[in-house]
Amino acid sequence: MQTASTGLGRQLCSLPTRHIQGATRALGTVSPDVERPKLIYISSTAPSHDRLGHPECAARGAAIMDALQANKLTPDALPGQLLSIQDFRRATVDDICAVHERSYVLGLENLTKSGRVDIVDNAPTYITGTSFDDALRAAGAAMTLVDAVVENGSAQQPAPAGFGICRPPGHHAVPKGPMGFCLFGSICIAARHAQQFHGLKRVMIFDFDVHHGNGTNDVFYEDEDVLFVSTHQQGSYPGTGKLADVGSGSGEGTSINLPLPGDSGDSAMMEIFDEVVGPAAQRFKPDIILVSAGYDCHWRDPLATLQMRSSTFHRLSTKIKALANELAGGRCVFLLEGGYDLKGLGESVSETFRALLGLNSVDTFNADLLPDEPKDKVRRVIAEAKRIHSL
Ligand SMILES: [Zn+2]
Repeated sequence: MQTASTGLGRQLCSLPTRHIQGATRALGTVSPDVERPKLIYISSTAPSHDRLGHPECAARGAAIMDALQANKLTPDALPGQLLSIQDFRRATVDDICAVHERSYVLGLENLTKSGRVDIVDNAPTYITGTSFDDALRAAGAAMTLVDAVVENGSAQQPAPAGFGICRPPGHHAVPKGPMGFCLFGSICIAARHAQQFHGLKRVMIFDFDVHHGNGTNDVFYEDEDVLFVSTHQQGSYPGTGKLADVGSGSGEGTSINLPLPGDSGDSAMMEIFDEVVGPAAQRFKPDIILVSAGYDCHWRDPLATLQMRSSTFHRLSTKIKALANELAGGRCVFLLEGGYDLKGLGESVSETFRALLGLNSVDTFNADLLPDEPKDKVRRVIAEAKRIHSL
């Protein structure tokens, strides 16, 4: 695979104990006749993992929580339907080492213990005195959400969806180090947890962040039990994720990279999902679907030039959950990755929540204001992807 070159920022700049808001019962002991929640989320927004002027800043978490509150997407407003897990265990070093090299994990721990605020890769990725703990919490939240959706599913009723509003993000982090604003690959750690703790052997990871999830792709590149599907803007950071990168060894064919031309938007995403992502999932038959939910493909985002609207994430999330219901007992967990325009981010996560709760979109944005999508180029990408992957 191609190595990273351009800085991301420089393009612009034992089961856990849980306290559950919105429910009086414990997770894990739900009788078949009890109505289950539709969506379970964890917020771990790492307010001290912050750096002045950096796009991956603490204000992102606050913007999402404010938008959910303003849209009445809270456990209090939606009792029984929306649950928040407020207390969960951090991932352990051993959990992290299912994906990352121990020398990296312990080295990062020592660096943060020193209290130094530092740049740890050229994206630039930063750390503060709390970043190691914040990254353990983000990975622990991802594992806890896998536990929660598994425990709340049954043969009679699909599992609820999960959503992790967690920072720092993870999909660029590689086994031996941090990269692209990311410290630990939470989605990879959640995938290994699903396999090893719950026996969910076949994991699909769909990554719709505008950047290629190179870290996730690296971890599972030779793994036939993990289907990695990524849509990303062609030519954007870190430059990896070509159509021809399909996995290797026994994992050949289980990496599906879908680079989209600039200005691709709602219509491209819907078409590529229906023509490539969905059929690939049908063939793979996952036991759980994990989603790297990066909202930097929104038209407002300053780091790239795709044109998704807030409502795109409603349509997309509806399709993902339908696929999970059909193929994976409803089990799907979304984890926040990028998304750097605070208004677009808050709206888009809210639209995702609305979709996963079965509520209608409230986005009234006039899409005529956006540039025309490069439909012919998108169709060529789809045709080539279908040819390469025999879909
Ligand atoms: Zn991104």
